[in-house]
Amino acid sequence: MKLSIVVSVYNEAQVLPQFVAELKAALAGLDCESEVLMVDDGSVDGSRELLDNIAAEWECMRVLHFTRNFGHEAAMIAGIDHATGDAIVCMDADCQNPPAMLGEMLKCHAEGNDIVTMVREERADGGWLNHITSRLFYRIINRLSDTHLQPNASDFFLVSQRVADVLRNDYRERTRFLRGLIQTVGFRSATLSYQAPRRAAGKSHYSLSSLTRLAFTSIAAFTKAPLKLGIYSGLLFGLLSVALIVYSIVMWIVDRPVGGYTTLIIFLSAFAAVVLLVVGITGYYVGIVLDEAKGRPLYLIDYTKEKNP
Ligand code: UDP
Ligand code: MG
Repeated sequence: MKLSIVVSVYNEAQVLPQFVAELKAALAGLDCESEVLMVDDGSVDGSRELLDNIAAEWECMRVLHFTRNFGHEAAMIAGIDHATGDAIVCMDADCQNPPAMLGEMLKCHAEGNDIVTMVREERADGGWLNHITSRLFYRIINRLSDTHLQPNASDFFLVSQRVADVLRNDYRERTRFLRGLIQTVGFRSATLSYQAPRRAAGKSHYSLSSLTRLAFTSIAAFTKAPLKLGIYSGLLFGLLSVALIVYSIVMWIVDRPVGGYTTLIIFLSAFAAVVLLVVGITGYYVGIVLDEAKGRPLYLIDYTKEKNP
């Protein structure tokens, strides 16, 4: 049994030494062969050199350096693509995904689970805004899409070789949300919960705006439901206009023409807003189709570094 650890690293020079120490300690306590794949997602803070130095001394570690920053998701995909283990664990480099949980995750895998989803208990570093928006996000996505996504699932998870093959061969879309995707492939899965400590140092790369973008991407990746807004609002405005037409004709017949300025303004502006919203949503999905049609690579590797190449 071989375990692959995939770690996405973007400007984590401050935390890497601590993380590597924690990971080494955890791996030493496991009774299996292991490989560590660090994916450097275009770091510019010295993480690059630091990783190469660590790899030069630690034989089970390999570093994949991206040509530029491709994002956390791409880093995890690249790691999964290059992993050779029977089980693959993705984790962050900031010590928020405790390596001490690896033993329990492997036990779960050994019991026959192809997927082990890690759910974090209350985030130590998340404020109330984070809490509310995260709950809102899962509520919306679960309402709109057919599959149920586990709230608070993290980018800390284990997949078996079989699931990794599915991800490598069949889920190559550019607009994706990996931790959601692995919950939709089926297979036997288990959930473990863990305490996410505070970030060891530095700060999160996800601002509120990038989280919002991720939320839109995820919704678009999982459901076409927003596209139906045009149909529903069309029906609603159709009914409203029938009522308005009937009302106006009746008033005209009884010779009491209505001063329709207010009605017109309300109707027109609401209608225009809905039409533009629908056009925007459609445009968003068209953009996704365009990205997929271009078929550009999910990531590009500059070079890899390992002790014994
Ligand atoms: N990360 C990455 N590419 C990016 C942004 C982040 O590989 O463009 C890595 C980062 O180094 C960390 C993990 O993804 O190991 C999670 O990022 P972060 O801790 O900033 O997110 P949070 O834990 O706050 O959700
Ligand atoms: Mg983090």
